[in-house]
Amino acid sequence: MSFNGTSNLPISITLVENISISLKSTFPEKHSVSDLVRWASNILQKHNIDSPRLDAEIILSHLLSCKRIGLYTHPDKPVDNATAILFKNAIQKRARRVPLQYINNLANFMSLEFYVDERVLIPRPETELLVEAVIKLSQTMPDKREIVIVDIGAGSGNIAVTLAKNIDKARIFATDISPDALAVAKINAQKHNMLDKITFLCGDTFQPLEKVGIESKIDFIVSNPPYISSNEFNTLQKEVKDHEPYAALISGQDSLQMFKRIITNTNIWLKPNGYIVFEVGENQAVKVSRLIGGTGCFKKAYFIKDYQQIRRIVIARKEETFWTKLSLREDIV
Ligand code: GLN
Repeated sequence: MSFNGTSNLPISITLVENISISLKSTFPEKHSVSDLVRWASNILQKHNIDSPRLDAEIILSHLLSCKRIGLYTHPDKPVDNATAILFKNAIQKRARRVPLQYINNLANFMSLEFYVDERVLIPRPETELLVEAVIKLSQTMPDKREIVIVDIGAGSGNIAVTLAKNIDKARIFATDISPDALAVAKINAQKHNMLDKITFLCGDTFQPLEKVGIESKIDFIVSNPPYISSNEFNTLQKEVKDHEPYAALISGQDSLQMFKRIITNTNIWLKPNGYIVFEVGENQAVKVSRLIGGTGCFKKAYFIKDYQQIRRIVIARKEETFWTKLSLREDIV
């Protein structure tokens, strides 16, 4: 590529000129890896981002399809103009508090990569506890039969897809009221080759299951429903409140609305000895267990604590006749 006007590639010259107009003076002209990281760390620090350098490195290594360590082993490597522009735009998004996962369209969950964008909640590590519990419980079931699982509020499909991948006999129904979210869930099911094990249904809680014929045949009803109260919305981090879908986060004024709506219907849908497995918010485990107990079909609730010692997962078994030893991380009877 040439700047002296004698180039036989005029289209490249146009591109270079556009870039030089659109990039502010502070943006490094040379675009080496280390120049870009330094520039971006500075910008992000000025915008009070918690880990400016780390975020800059994660974004750049994603754009360059390399590991972060690659940025350190090749600091002087030149970065082409097109990538530099993408990087600049991405850093501007991060400065506006767009979460990294939406910028890179990538979230890790159960060691798998999920496509995410602003149509879905970003999968959280705590939700892995729910998936691990269901996998362990499914291993106590007879080998030969199909295991019917319903995931209510599937979002990105992280729960449905990881259960499908880890439970051979699973037949999964993933529902969500948002068609946009289901479109993302399908992308992820396809990405992980799980489309044939998961049926995606659009609608409110159990309503889309009505025509499927699985009444009282479900082994697991699982859900990580919205569980933040509308009053708490303004206390959320900017990344969450300005960018994650409101409907995936907020559940009425008391924060328990979605649990109540799901729990009221479990008896009709769940098989005898079937399980209900919820992710819950801080200080909700006991309240949710009482709601479950209130249906009269469950005798005990079990909790699993998360990494911060918060009771994060609630498990109950319908008409429980026995409880096998599961060695879950924490059982509180
Ligand atoms: N099931 C998805 C998750 O656990 C979405 C949850 C939601 O949208 N509330 O991340």
